[in-house]
Amino acid sequence: MTEVERLNYDVVVIGAGGAGLRAVIEARERGFSVAVVCKSLFGKAHTVMAEGGCAASMGNANSNDNWQVHFRDTMRGGKFLNNWRMAELHAREAPDRVWELETYGALFDRTADGRISQRNFGGHTYPRLAHVGDRTGLELIRTMQQKIVSLQQEDFKETGDYEARIKVFAECTITELLTDSPGPGAPEGQSRISGAFGYWRESGRFILFETPAVVLATGGIGKSFKVTSNSWEYTGDGHALALRAGAKLINMEFVQFHPTGMVWPPSVKGILVTEGVRGDGGVLKNTEDKRFMFEYVPEVFKGQYADSEEEADRWYTDADNNRRTPDLLPRDEVARAINSEVKAGRGSPHGGVFLDIASRLPAEEIRKRLPSMYHQFKELADVDITKEPMEVGPTCHYVMGGIEVDPDTASSSVPGLFAAGECSGGMHGSNRLGGNSLSDLLVFGRRAGLGAASYVSELKDRPKVSQSDVDAAAAMALAPFDPPGDGVEENPYSLHTELQQSMNDLVGIIRKAEEIERALEKLGELRERIKRVTVEGHRQFNPGWHLAVDLRNMLMVSECVARAALMRTESRGGHTRDDHPGMDAQWRNKLLVCSATPGDNPVVPEIGIEVKEQTPLRQDLLELFELSELGKYYTDEELASHPGSPA
Ligand code: FAD
Repeated sequence: MTEVERLNYDVVVIGAGGAGLRAVIEARERGFSVAVVCKSLFGKAHTVMAEGGCAASMGNANSNDNWQVHFRDTMRGGKFLNNWRMAELHAREAPDRVWELETYGALFDRTADGRISQRNFGGHTYPRLAHVGDRTGLELIRTMQQKIVSLQQEDFKETGDYEARIKVFAECTITELLTDSPGPGAPEGQSRISGAFGYWRESGRFILFETPAVVLATGGIGKSFKVTSNSWEYTGDGHALALRAGAKLINMEFVQFHPTGMVWPPSVKGILVTEGVRGDGGVLKNTEDKRFMFEYVPEVFKGQYADSEEEADRWYTDADNNRRTPDLLPRDEVARAINSEVKAGRGSPHGGVFLDIASRLPAEEIRKRLPSMYHQFKELADVDITKEPMEVGPTCHYVMGGIEVDPDTASSSVPGLFAAGECSGGMHGSNRLGGNSLSDLLVFGRRAGLGAASYVSELKDRPKVSQSDVDAAAAMALAPFDPPGDGVEENPYSLHTELQQSMNDLVGIIRKAEEIERALEKLGELRERIKRVTVEGHRQFNPGWHLAVDLRNMLMVSECVARAALMRTESRGGHTRDDHPGMDAQWRNKLLVCSATPGDNPVVPEIGIEVKEQTPLRQDLLELFELSELGKYYTDEELASHPGSPA
């Protein structure tokens, strides 16, 4: 029998980024005991890296802003493939979530009259991003940790134990979710979540959380790609855990390549250069010193963006009477434009383009508004951004695809399994607007905590963990110490490098069928080779073993991305097909739904994909848009109910 530390909680939140922490607060406020598990140090989640800000239509910088404008921008950014109910809840609730953070102690930058300052970002009609310099994510996490400590102090007063209701398990990786056997207590005879199995990274010892409710808040998948702004944690664990537990993923073909990552020196390639640089006046230029974005305003956005440099520059100070600069088009558009400039031979010396803030703002102002960017370039590239332009290019940044959830409760199709933040899918459609992730984390992190709490309070009986499932999870985790013994051994680092290279080259920013098919062949080869992955040494802090465990997840999610990318024969948002360059209205309401199907490879189960039609946009939300705009995305039949429709 496997030796394992066993613990019991009402709710287990996997992930201590913005989504996870907000879920913890909510579930605890409803009186439940909550474990929060994270594979990095507590406080070191990806959210900490968020720079530019948190989008919420508070209307502080422009009183014309409101939730309807934010909703419209989000849907446009996602090319109308968004789960519209999520986009609605997000736009309506984001301001309250930001103000609530202030009650927890957040210190946002202020306007001259003392309100929360809001900055411009791509695709947002008005300045909308609440921010703390370019270190907004850090403040979000700091504040929510502070709130958690204050809740623990309340618990101490009542029980004498700080950890009576919230306990943090840091540097602890969850490798498997457990479900009970379908039984009379389960709705429709479905298996329910019964626990989460993992190991302490330092000791390698196993840990089992027996719990009826799990909230996945594990973030993204960027480490499957070679050039990425994401950190080592982003190995798609939550996506893969959900798939293996029987939940479904949607929109996996939509991966966001942020237009501005560092391109040089090679050791830092991919590190993010915040969109806040362009929001604060920075402009993109090619080697001919031309502001090339004016050439790349796509048909669907014509009329909404300035067509001269003069108008674009006036917009920064008079947004009501001028159209915004195309430097702030949604990210997918800007990334494709940079790609085209480089391909056309007008790129910078190290294969990017120039981003110039030096000639646009006084040095003092740059250092004040963008302190992290100033230091990042000075320390890593020896470039003084107050004097010279930066070199930037696209980097894999965010995954729009994720666990399919109910918008209101954040529940997945598996009873007891909830998801929020970057690992959930639907909210951002085919492309996320900058700043909409931090607000997403707060809105849906809260809803997931609430959803899990309501689920637990209505349970009639607690699902049971079976010992055979625990033994199987332990055996799977230990497999890299005990390879098949046929003389062939695979190195996890080599497999990871091969995976990243293939995804980058063949399923990257510009895709075509023949290349995606080659990627799928490679993934097929890797799924066989992973059975022979071998690690040396012991379970005590062993990075090779950790990677071997994570590799399974990266392979599963990469297969979802590649299969869905091959199936979607159009270009939309973060998915660009060279062989199908246009958007196709027949694809607009189609979701590609991935599930894991039992195959003959238990290490990396097969991925199946189904096409599912999206629920039509609610009439009052449909009417928020002009018919002429919707006509660029929708079929005539879909628009028959619009009041402007001639039908
Ligand atoms: P995270 O904050 O990444 O947290 C994931 C958590 O899950 C971590 O604690 C991790 O340890 C844990 N975890 C993962 N797998 C496991 C496992 N198997 N077991 C246990 N724990 C696990 N968005 C904006 O809106 N505005 C911005 O300005 C902005 N700037 C950004 C800048 C950078 C450099 C980057 C990379 C992203 C930026 N984003 C921004 C995007 C945004 O930061 C992320 O989408 C968001 O923080 C994701 O939050 P999350 O709570 O979903 O996950």
